[in-house]
Amino acid sequence: MATVSKIEWTQMTWNPVTGCTKVSQGCKHCYAERMAKRLQKMGVARYANGFRLTLHDDLVELPKRWRKPSMIFVNSMSDLFHEQIPLEFIQRVFRTMNECPHHTFQVLTKRSRRLREVADALHWTPNIWMGVSVENEKVLFRVHDLVAVPARVRFLSCEPLLGPLPNLPLEGIHWVIVGGESGPKARPMAPEWVREIRDQCQRAGVAFFFKQWGGVRKDLTGRVLDGKVYDEYPRIASTQESRVPSYRLLTPQSSFASLSP
Ligand code: SF4
Repeated sequence: MATVSKIEWTQMTWNPVTGCTKVSQGCKHCYAERMAKRLQKMGVARYANGFRLTLHDDLVELPKRWRKPSMIFVNSMSDLFHEQIPLEFIQRVFRTMNECPHHTFQVLTKRSRRLREVADALHWTPNIWMGVSVENEKVLFRVHDLVAVPARVRFLSCEPLLGPLPNLPLEGIHWVIVGGESGPKARPMAPEWVREIRDQCQRAGVAFFFKQWGGVRKDLTGRVLDGKVYDEYPRIASTQESRVPSYRLLTPQSSFASLSP
């Protein structure tokens, strides 16, 4: 599946895998699960299995057909490093990314242990940005796994932010995204947690992107922090192999989407 994305920090989504299982507190109100079940009820063939892990073989090479250089979020409806996804399938997904230097791919996982284990069996072209979700201090180990991976850009998605992160290890990290949970049972995010992360990023010279306050009506709470919209992206030199479209193209869209994993 591929769609133009409403997620503020990307342009397109590509889902060669759908469905997942929960691994930590950040999964509790999984957006992908809600969407998959809704699409299943609507009779969308791609979601006949609901939220059960499903490989979509016919979508593995899809980005090769997209000519316009785009920022593509890989597997917004699953986790590419899920333990039930064969390494051979992950390698095929990577091969597609390797063969599409005109696109930039953003891969985000909560399965950092598996990511680290298989990283050497994958080819890390510079157009692949790799991230881990960090919702609270219990999962800080994911950052340590991530920095062992030879991706050109490594990023953290602190969303939904569920607790303070006063000691984020930012060495080797290029970008941090922060957001609160949204939806009917949204768990609260304290403004001081967000400020604390922003300040750590500023001290470490790491790009900081504040996605949303979240809450039950996130359209009302917006994304302004201390009078400012934080829309930073990692500063990387453009190369032949990774022709990322101008980051200015990626300024916020009015969005109500959340993201997984
Ligand atoms: S898609 Fe992400 S948030 Fe949802 S269950 Fe999987 S890892 Fe958790």
